[in-house]
Amino acid sequence: MQKHINKKKKTDTRTGKTAVKKKNSRSKRRKSSRVRQRNQRILMSLMLLVIIVLIGWIIINRAGENGWSIGDFLHNSDTMISDAEQSGTDNADSSGGPEQWQKEGAPYIDVELLTPNEYSRPQIPIESVQYIAIHYTANPGATAIANRNYFENLATTHDTKVSSHFVVGLDGEVVQCIPTSEMSYATNSRNVDTLSIECCHPDETGKFNEATYDSAVKLSAWLCVRFGLTSENVIRHYDVTGKNCPKYYVENPDAWIQMKSDIAAQIDVDYGLQDVQ
Ligand SMILES: [Zn+2]
Repeated sequence: MQKHINKKKKTDTRTGKTAVKKKNSRSKRRKSSRVRQRNQRILMSLMLLVIIVLIGWIIINRAGENGWSIGDFLHNSDTMISDAEQSGTDNADSSGGPEQWQKEGAPYIDVELLTPNEYSRPQIPIESVQYIAIHYTANPGATAIANRNYFENLATTHDTKVSSHFVVGLDGEVVQCIPTSEMSYATNSRNVDTLSIECCHPDETGKFNEATYDSAVKLSAWLCVRFGLTSENVIRHYDVTGKNCPKYYVENPDAWIQMKSDIAAQIDVDYGLQDVQ
């Protein structure tokens, strides 16, 4: 009997040992599967990292092939923004507005853009502004807004193709008809790279009164600074086609020389204003 018990005990001990062994091997298996899972996770993260680096490398390489640099990229996004602003109908230019332009030396500009139409606002882009052309309206006593409305009505009358970026009135008021990023019909072969300024005048001589003259000088100078030009880039319609326009400043060359020198002086003032800001 004692033997039997002993035998049983032995057996019990053995069963216990086996259980412990089984338990041990199970926990070992669990442990190894946990390690495996962890390794898999690390491997996945590494692969993801490699893919991200590879995509980044491809993008940078492509950009290099196309001759882009980060600077260009930033510049491009900059021009895209200003293009978007320029295409807005209530925005005369890439930045600012009448108040901001006045701080830069411009006279107050009343932005009254023409409705796009093929007779006065064809919406043809100006690639690069090279000249500012001065004209006279050849319509004594007429106001700036009346001239602007004449351009506007060409959309309906189809009389002729004519327009101007700006009209300077008898009180020195300035009306903008066309954004500086688009062509006007004023200066014939130079329309492609020229901004036009029509000036009102009180009588047949075509001489500008003081208010009109001052605004025309300020407007020309501000445009020169804005587009990186000098007073040498300010021309008369006459200089392009030989037309007697602006009449008084063709018939009196000294008056034209004086006007250009006044514009040059105003350009210096405007550059000073830029330094202050
Ligand atoms: Zn003209």
